[in-house]
Amino acid sequence: ADAWRLICMARVFAVANQKGGVAKTTSVASLGAALSELGCRVLLVDLDPQACLTFSLGLDPDAIELSVHDVLLGRLSPGLVLRGTEDGPDLLPATIELAGCEAVLLSRTGREHALRLALAEIGDSYDFVLIDCPPSLGILTINGLTAADEVIIPLQCETLSHRGVGQLLDTVHDVQRLTNADLRVRGVLPTLFDARTAHGRAVLVDISARYVVTVLQPPIARSVRFAEAPGSGRSILTTARRSRGAEAYRSHARALVEAESAAGAPQGARSRPG
Ligand code: ADP
Ligand code: MG
Repeated sequence: ADAWRLICMARVFAVANQKGGVAKTTSVASLGAALSELGCRVLLVDLDPQACLTFSLGLDPDAIELSVHDVLLGRLSPGLVLRGTEDGPDLLPATIELAGCEAVLLSRTGREHALRLALAEIGDSYDFVLIDCPPSLGILTINGLTAADEVIIPLQCETLSHRGVGQLLDTVHDVQRLTNADLRVRGVLPTLFDARTAHGRAVLVDISARYVVTVLQPPIARSVRFAEAPGSGRSILTTARRSRGAEAYRSHARALVEAESAAGAPQGARSRPG
């Protein structure tokens, strides 16, 4: 039943948008938990010096000794830094030290490839790796995009939220040209969506007209349940198991698994999970 696990390397997704507050971290935590529920082996990478993902999965960033920062600087192998989480996925945690990492990386040869090389060491232990990028287009996000097979762009459905998308897509094109020719844009993930207003829907139509990107369905509705989750150290997949938000992320997780199974099918190396 788990023959699709014969794939040797994990499928790596960067979740990126230089705008803050668009649900990057929430999407990484929720998709990760949903993929775990499906029986996938999942690694989450916190690339944000704010360490919100690390905190929201129940770890105290101030009490963590070894973090992704040591991995990016080549001091530690990722296996030594990994932590398990209650939600199921493993995590490469961040601490505020990651803020200083940017400057050190910038002076190094091969600085864009630090995360890609680290993941190459452990990628065969996972089916999926999800990278939570910081709200900038700096060297950390470039590391995320360079390490990824695909990028998912969470987008808050409100006026002018599209304005950053063009700039992010330019960065994706630079990465494709310079460090990762195989990087694909999986699509825009509509978040904080309010279906009651025509406005939210209009933003989605506008995005698909403006850019050549897929708008991933279903949108993630705005819900107070999301705000409650991070304090508990668990994602909405457990804090509000049956909520529409949890179900929406489950449906995106199933789509990722199905795409992986379909992609591998011709070689006979993968079959459907289940
Ligand atoms: P980012 O990582 O892009 O900065 P976060 O994932 O931290 O964004 O989300 C920003 C805020 O929005 C957080 O307080 C989070 O709990 C909240 N949030 C995320 N998704 C939703 C949603 N669907 N409905 C309501 N609040 C949400
Ligand atoms: Mg975040």
